[in-house]
Amino acid sequence: MVNLNRNSNETAATEAEPSSGQVQTAQPSALLVPGAEPPLERRAAEQVHRHESAAGLYSIYETVKRGVVEMGAGNAFRTLLKVNQTDGFDCPSCAWPDPDRDRKPAEFCENGAKAVASEATKERILPEFFAKHSISELLEQSDRWYEQQGRLTHPMWRPAGSDRYQPIEWDAAFTLIARKLNALASPNEAAFYTSGRASNEAAFLYGLFARQLGTNNLPDCSNLCHESSGAGLNEAIGIGKATVKIEDFSYADAIFVIGQNPGTCHPRMLSELQKAARNGCKIVSINPLAETGLIRFKNPQEPLSLLGPGTPIASLFLPVRINGDVALLKGIMKEMLEADVRSRGRVLAHDFIREQTEGFEALRADLESADWDEIVESSGCSRELIEQAADIAIRAEHMICCWAMGITQHKNGVANVQTIANFALLRAQIGRRGAGLCPVRGHSNVQGDRTVGIWEKMSDEFLTKLGKEFDFSPPKAHGLDAVRTIQAMASGQLKVFIALGGNFLAATPDTQHTARAIQRCELTVQISTKLNRGHLITGQEALILPCLGRTEEDLQATGAQFVTMENTTGVVHQSRGVLPPASKHLRSEPAIVAGMAQKTLAGRTKTDWAGLVSDYDRIREHIEHVVPGFAQYNRRVRDPGGFYLPNGPREGKFTTRSGKAKFTVHPIPRHDLRPGELMLTTLRSHDQFNTTIYGENDRYRGIANGRRVLFINARDIAERGLESGSLVDLISRVGDESRKAERFKLVAYDIPLGCVAAYYPETNVLVPLQNVADRSNQPAFKSIPIRLEPSPAALAVPAPVSA
Ligand code: SF4
Repeated sequence: MVNLNRNSNETAATEAEPSSGQVQTAQPSALLVPGAEPPLERRAAEQVHRHESAAGLYSIYETVKRGVVEMGAGNAFRTLLKVNQTDGFDCPSCAWPDPDRDRKPAEFCENGAKAVASEATKERILPEFFAKHSISELLEQSDRWYEQQGRLTHPMWRPAGSDRYQPIEWDAAFTLIARKLNALASPNEAAFYTSGRASNEAAFLYGLFARQLGTNNLPDCSNLCHESSGAGLNEAIGIGKATVKIEDFSYADAIFVIGQNPGTCHPRMLSELQKAARNGCKIVSINPLAETGLIRFKNPQEPLSLLGPGTPIASLFLPVRINGDVALLKGIMKEMLEADVRSRGRVLAHDFIREQTEGFEALRADLESADWDEIVESSGCSRELIEQAADIAIRAEHMICCWAMGITQHKNGVANVQTIANFALLRAQIGRRGAGLCPVRGHSNVQGDRTVGIWEKMSDEFLTKLGKEFDFSPPKAHGLDAVRTIQAMASGQLKVFIALGGNFLAATPDTQHTARAIQRCELTVQISTKLNRGHLITGQEALILPCLGRTEEDLQATGAQFVTMENTTGVVHQSRGVLPPASKHLRSEPAIVAGMAQKTLAGRTKTDWAGLVSDYDRIREHIEHVVPGFAQYNRRVRDPGGFYLPNGPREGKFTTRSGKAKFTVHPIPRHDLRPGELMLTTLRSHDQFNTTIYGENDRYRGIANGRRVLFINARDIAERGLESGSLVDLISRVGDESRKAERFKLVAYDIPLGCVAAYYPETNVLVPLQNVADRSNQPAFKSIPIRLEPSPAALAVPAPVSA
């Protein structure tokens, strides 16, 4: 029995063989000794006072507490004052941009501080830790416990058949990797995964290594978060990235925040929204849950505002049904179209539409024929609310649309993105100051990694240039994305899996299936700073290669190095660590990649891998030659704040094949829930960064000491004869397949009828691998039909704690 998914004191899972029509179970408690469930396992999450404004004094308290406890007072002060500074290091958490000018001494949020504290912790995992704990024992611990154990310090090897890791020297580790890779029948039996932590330099070398080996199997975390944005926007406007600069937020008259929770996922975005709101900008929040960050914000940078009630952020909140966004946006656009007819063409940007777009007539016909009853029913929003949103869009001279995974992680994620693009194009809200589209990235360099070549289907132009630059012939056939990587592992096609950062097991769907797939590999390699469950569910042989973190000095043969990243708005900037490395055995990510490459490709590569690592300027010179937009990279990235990459649509030039922006027509998605079923969306808590669990509280939603909760409308609870606080099992249905996640506590919440929400990765077990977005193949985590069953676990539930 193997625990796969244990993100709290009460969470674990058992392995069950899947078969069509059978319910697969992820149990919350897999016991070593049946019947001897420890008391903590019996504790359910508590409902507590819900904070009504984001950030504020509590956030400062959390920041200081976390920083001092993890790093010590001196280090905390020294380190945090270098986060997001032009001479410091990039926050390892989200990809929200830093101010172009006039940075303040404290340019970070509570979540950034948690990420920094987590990396710069004083705790260490020494080889003795692995001597003491077998892998089976470690699997019984929670993900939060792993996070608390500190930094990995030494390369570790799990020999085939062993239940323990043991130390290994770097050279031996590289030799092992080389032997395995070189023994493959085809380079396509290996995959090279990248998380958004990797720098441009590490990612570029990594892609080069994979391609010199002979494969484009380069799955990345972008496959999981914003692949639908890339696919949708590339087709609609010619670039898969944001078209705004951070300064645009100050000039906007309206900002639509769609399927995004900035208060938890991109907290410093609230400062921009606060500034905008104070300028009179109307902020419209479209989301199934009214998230605290969009209601009120107390800016920690403004001592006086900390004592008051905070700044109201959203002028209008539309509680859209889960995946009701296409319907809602169609409703808003239909209102705009009708207003345009009434005003004799003064609402829509007719000249722009005629000269710079295509496909408008089809969209107009679709909107005209759209049925209001269907729009209201599918969106869950009243006609009055839709009119109000349309009115804001019509009055806005400058409008920005932002979104995140509430939009992309649906079967129709690409359609969602393109419908947002339609909405913006109607009034030419792209390519002008204060206007544009902004898919907000969740991990600090996920966008940069893609820019420098981490993609399973980079263009022929890129591959040709790469081959010319390094004198080799890169493979042209497309490789595997994240979902196809798991499928290839499961079928036995993929034998070696190397992960440059991340927690692939927790980030991907269908946890049980994915775990079994990973276990079929011959070798898995994790390049990591901290322990996670992915180090314990491994191939037959496994390696942990510990690397430097963002906070740490990176000393190479020619001296101290810096690395570079690209944020959400396409600014490439440098990041230079300030702390001594957590262990003398750590290597930088570029050095580890080069070490693997040199050993594996010996005699077959013309690349001077050691030379590149001795001076990262050399890597950047090659990037400059291969990737457009990086001219004078080494000079410009040394300018304080770095430089913007070129962005056609931002500059008013659509870089599609036709040179025009494209309207696309998409139907309103149908869900056909069966009687009694609910639509589940997954979300993250405020004590969490992607798959990293810092704690078990979510003060913005009034949850403490647990994560297995299901946010549900009180009427949906009553209709099922249940009560708030009842424990239920969640049973998902996608096609003919069912999956179960056990023992979630019902929390009555302000969420549309028929919709429920729960935290990931606990609910990833409910999402079958084949449940993906059309055309982007991104897992559809955010619209899962489920039903509830009273949990048979007779567990003590503590009384709710009052405020
Ligand atoms: S907003 Fe994002 S990048 Fe900025 S400090 Fe917070 S977590 Fe870090």
